[in-house]
Amino acid sequence: MIRIEFLGAMATVGASGILIDTGREKLVLDYGTKVREIPPIFPIEIKGRVDAILLSHAHLDHSGGLPLFASKGKDIPIYAIDVSKPLTKLLLEDSIKISREEGIELPFNEKDVKLTISRFKEVEFRKEFDLHSAKVTFYNAGHIPGSAQIFLDLKEKALLYTGDFNTIETRLMKKADLKLPNVDILITESTYADRDHRDRKEEEREFIEMIDQTISKNGVALVAAFAVGRAQEVLLILNKYKVGYPIYLDGMAKKATNIINSYRKRIKDPKILDKALENVEYVTNNKMRKKIIKEPSIIVTTSGMLNGGPVVWYLKKLKNRRNSSLLLTGWQLEGTPGRILLESGRYINEELKLNFEVNMNVRRFDFSAHAGRKQLFEYIEKISPEKIFCIHGDHTEEFASELKELGFDAIAPIANNRIFEIK
Ligand SMILES: [Zn+2]
Ligand SMILES: [Zn+2]
Repeated sequence: MIRIEFLGAMATVGASGILIDTGREKLVLDYGTKVREIPPIFPIEIKGRVDAILLSHAHLDHSGGLPLFASKGKDIPIYAIDVSKPLTKLLLEDSIKISREEGIELPFNEKDVKLTISRFKEVEFRKEFDLHSAKVTFYNAGHIPGSAQIFLDLKEKALLYTGDFNTIETRLMKKADLKLPNVDILITESTYADRDHRDRKEEEREFIEMIDQTISKNGVALVAAFAVGRAQEVLLILNKYKVGYPIYLDGMAKKATNIINSYRKRIKDPKILDKALENVEYVTNNKMRKKIIKEPSIIVTTSGMLNGGPVVWYLKKLKNRRNSSLLLTGWQLEGTPGRILLESGRYINEELKLNFEVNMNVRRFDFSAHAGRKQLFEYIEKISPEKIFCIHGDHTEEFASELKELGFDAIAPIANNRIFEIK
């Protein structure tokens, strides 16, 4: 019998965590945090022994709770693709730094992060390894560098956890591996279960058009992007369309880009990223920031949802420039300053005590790294599992009922129905 206990990301995105107990071994799939919640939200605590943690990718909603094990004196190996280690380190250290600045207490410290990072064990895509009696294989998930779908051969049943995945090739990433072994139990993310993506090429063209128009009016095109994955995707798009204006990179995206560029086999075409980076200048201080906003330019910076980072500095300076633009390149979670700005035209950030009108041109573009609705259904039809669990989305219950109508045995775990035993 296999016992699957969902610990987070139920009917929502954030704080992913799953405990798989076969009676022989106890394996944890991801242990994240709900990004930007105050106080921070983590997956349900695991009582008792854990043999290993398998990490799908570095994003904090999957990794942000890992130091909790170290802080409680639990010494557990963490299996992940190589680049996930430095990326997780970068994001965890940043989360401590930000919470300090904002006076939020995290239940772990730098020492716990250090210990956590030292417990990482590198695995390779498509190479099976043993964890006690379980056989584990990581497959490319096409989401960010190092992202994996995790396949567990558990004797009784074969289980696949998608993590976050994308079956469409992007400029940065190859698409997810679709050549997979037979799967009995599928645990799937559902981020875009309720909506399709806009056509990628068209989105890119309109993105470039907005930048061209901004520059032609002598404005600054401020591009807000997530540090890991999205910032590099944006640089590749700018390179593809041979944008000739000065391009600057600022914030945590610089370190993330350096890490990603040094794990070259984790990206689709490292040579093209090299070429893109030839035309990019890193911003290192406020003096430089003041200088570059005097001229028409493109500034790619963090954070992606406008919570903090240099993007806030730029917004304060550029807010009244009607010839300048703010281009959002990712989904804006409810309650984030980015979402509020799209809905109200004001930048409101309670933690930073900011509230002002933004008169720049603001638009959100869809450069998502998640499978869209159409791709989710195609993927599930192809895998055709016996049982499906839908997590990591705002509409998991609707998604599960739609899958049921198609004849699948699907369920969306929720807080009071989250433990399942499978014979
Ligand atoms: Zn992710
Ligand atoms: Zn996620």
